[in-house]
Amino acid sequence: EKVREAVDGEGRTVFSFEFFPPKTEEGVENLFERMDRMVSHNPTFCDITWGAGGSTADLTLDIANRMQNMVCVIPPSISLLYSIEYYCCGENDLELCLLEVLDLVVLPAITIWSADYSFSEYISGDFKEISVETMMHLTCTNMPVEKIDHALDTIKTNGIQNVLALRGDPPHGQDKFVQVEGGFSCALDLVKHIRAKYGNYFGITIAGYPEAHPDMIQGEGGATLEAYSNDLAYLKRKVDAGADLIITQLFYDTDIFLKFVNDCRQIGITCPIVPGIMPINNYKGFIRMTGFCKTRIPAEITAALDPIKDNEEAVKAYGIHLGTEMCKKILAQGIKTLHLYTLNMEKSALAILMNLGLIEESKVTRSLPWRRPANVFRA
Ligand code: FAD
Repeated sequence: EKVREAVDGEGRTVFSFEFFPPKTEEGVENLFERMDRMVSHNPTFCDITWGAGGSTADLTLDIANRMQNMVCVIPPSISLLYSIEYYCCGENDLELCLLEVLDLVVLPAITIWSADYSFSEYISGDFKEISVETMMHLTCTNMPVEKIDHALDTIKTNGIQNVLALRGDPPHGQDKFVQVEGGFSCALDLVKHIRAKYGNYFGITIAGYPEAHPDMIQGEGGATLEAYSNDLAYLKRKVDAGADLIITQLFYDTDIFLKFVNDCRQIGITCPIVPGIMPINNYKGFIRMTGFCKTRIPAEITAALDPIKDNEEAVKAYGIHLGTEMCKKILAQGIKTLHLYTLNMEKSALAILMNLGLIEESKVTRSLPWRRPANVFRA
């Protein structure tokens, strides 16, 4: 299904997680394990990035497919299952603890717990199969239209209906975006192409920049009013061309984000605008990312980080506190959706959601029994 409907259709607060393709095979397996735990909290969707310069095309396609097609059969009494599992983690003999709780537990639940999924076929009604709605990022960098269509055809075949259409950054070592022969020069043209070739099959998300795109920012003081207005007008053209959801670039000044939403509404952008929240996990990473994106850092954040910048744990704890406060302020304005740039790490993102009361503390380290298809694109 398209995530746009879920994002603004239900009236409750929803959240999503972004991941990126790891560099090693082991990293990919670790990511899937982490994902199993994280998606157990029921995000509205998860997205996977497209490496700079198309460097991770096959891996992104593979991860996207496996993410979309991972399923989990939830038995009728899943909370009871957790309690059995907890019992068995200790010294207790499995049979004994099953006997102890048997009068409380329905048989199908035990069967599922012991991973015999085939049994679910014989049980009617109460079992629920859940999956993870996936969004794949796609950029124009080094992508002639045939390659773009190959990627889109592949995800379509695998049931993915959500694309984040981007121009992309220049490949490593180059500082200007160069349109590849037979490719597109900007996200606007990619959006137009997807709509023209695939009709309404895909939900199309685009990137929005609360402080204007860094290319529009010269010098220290942020974008000029003119550059900011041009950027907004261009954003509207992307929406008018068929995009139906905006995810924003990271920001640390919540007022800038709220003003951006208001400015978008003023010029007639009506689709949901999802704030991209990047918890600060590490001081150097924070400085690198905000430098690259030309993000404004409020003075109080600099003042809070300066004395603790060499203490990784303290920085993480501050990142969770700051992320929580930013999200509270955003939610208080009636915005009901949060997008977490996880950087493939779970603790800070989950801690923020827990602080907001959006996920249950008791489940933070538990994972549901997910199954996903085998690797299909890589050897
Ligand atoms: P565009 O929308 O094409 O625009 C870039 C800027 O150029 C515009 O803001 C505008 O100022 C200017 N511009 C372009 N065309 C016009 C025009 N016709 N008229 C006027 N102005 C124009 N990068 C990756 O490599 N992989 C990813 O997976 C990835 N995911 C991202 C996810 C999000 C949510 C965000 C915010 C960014 C992501 N990026 C990713 C980074 C992104 O690729 C870069 O920011 C890139 O430089 C711009 O991409 P875009 O789609 O915003 O470009």
